Amino acid sequence: MNIVVQKFGGTSVANLECMSKVKEKVMVPLKQGKKVAIVLSAMAGETNRLIKLAHEWSKNPDPSELDVLLSTGEQVSIALFTMLLKDAGIKARSFLGYQIPIRTDRDFGKARILDVDAEKLKQYFSIYDVLVIAGFQGCDCENRITTLGRGGSDTSAVALAAALKAEICEIYTDVDGVYTTDPNICSSARRIDKIAYDEMLEMASMGAKVLQIRSVEFAKKYNVPILVRSTFTDGPGTLVTQEDENMESAMVSGIAYDKDQARITLVDVYDKPGIAANIFEPIAAAGIVVDMIVQNPSRNGATDMTFTVPKGDMEKTIQILKKIAPNLGTKDILTDKNVAKVSVIGVGMRNHAGVAAIAFSALRKEHINIMIISTSEIKISCLIEEKYTELAVRTLHEAFGLDQV
Ligand code: ADP
Ligand code: ASP
Ligand code: MG
Repeated sequence: MNIVVQKFGGTSVANLECMSKVKEKVMVPLKQGKKVAIVLSAMAGETNRLIKLAHEWSKNPDPSELDVLLSTGEQVSIALFTMLLKDAGIKARSFLGYQIPIRTDRDFGKARILDVDAEKLKQYFSIYDVLVIAGFQGCDCENRITTLGRGGSDTSAVALAAALKAEICEIYTDVDGVYTTDPNICSSARRIDKIAYDEMLEMASMGAKVLQIRSVEFAKKYNVPILVRSTFTDGPGTLVTQEDENMESAMVSGIAYDKDQARITLVDVYDKPGIAANIFEPIAAAGIVVDMIVQNPSRNGATDMTFTVPKGDMEKTIQILKKIAPNLGTKDILTDKNVAKVSVIGVGMRNHAGVAAIAFSALRKEHINIMIISTSEIKISCLIEEKYTELAVRTLHEAFGLDQV
């Protein structure tokens, strides 16, 4: 049995007209005699609307009930789309996460997929040609509904593709592939034909939301080829796959940005063993992901510790720090939400010198101040003032010769 998984994002299922386009895409593998598992997101804007609603009702919405609420967005999409298919005479049925089941851990709001019951799903293919599955959701060991974090439908699709041993996982969205940077803020961005899992992982981790990070991790682990394409045009898209010699061996392959950053500085903490652990242990225990960290050499036994967390976690982090501050010696806690991270990414960087210098001089040319720098083997990230994000992305894109010719 040849199975194809196709995932359609929020803008692809925004209304009846868009859903008709989705139907056309589904017809392609179907006409080739393949079985199709469709994963749908909530209609554009719906998840945000539900989050807002929850916060109008509750100051601090209960995470498990919030997941019950948020998962309804996808339920609407799968019901409406399956109606369209049935009206067209196609044998189709909708599925919610718990009906499969897609089993996850109990980390409400950002649950991880543990298992997908592929055997049961495959049996349904003897009755139906198309299975329409709600993305972004699963259930824990007590059958409580969980959600997988923003953009989680990408991960639902890849997990299903791995479990069903599908030949491909096609991710349909509002752009026609993965670009050298977000094409919506840089008109000279270029579509990439083929990109390695590691590079895509780094792009996603640095903020390129075209694929959720976990979907790429999953695809790499289970060797699922992902094809990113547009619902609204017919281009070849971008293949995300294993690294091979034929891939572009550019020094830099893309620029990403992340505006979901807040900077926190602990002024004058003691410079002695254990202080960093004392700061970051309780933050980690609260489930807060710390991103960039810098600590300067000390003067007179004291040093500043600066780091970033997601904007939504800043207040919670401050509350934690205030409790432990007396034991850290800190005089002040400074915060700044008007920051963004821009990153230069490329596996080719491993073998090239001077990449950082090119990035820094490009930012200097535009008088953009760098607050924090962090590097890995295949990326350089700079924290800057948020208002310069778009300018920085375009400048770096040009500086590394990524602009379309
Ligand atoms: P969907 O709702 O279909 O899941 P998303 O909004 O999550 O779509 O992801 C698609 C968006 O990702 C694009 O509209 C684009 O603005 C953004 N994006 C960011 N970086 C990139 C990139 N490097 N290549 C393509 N798109 C990108
Ligand atoms: N609807 C969810 C979100 O908006 C999941 C997704 O679209 O992938 O984040
Ligand atoms: Mg998405």
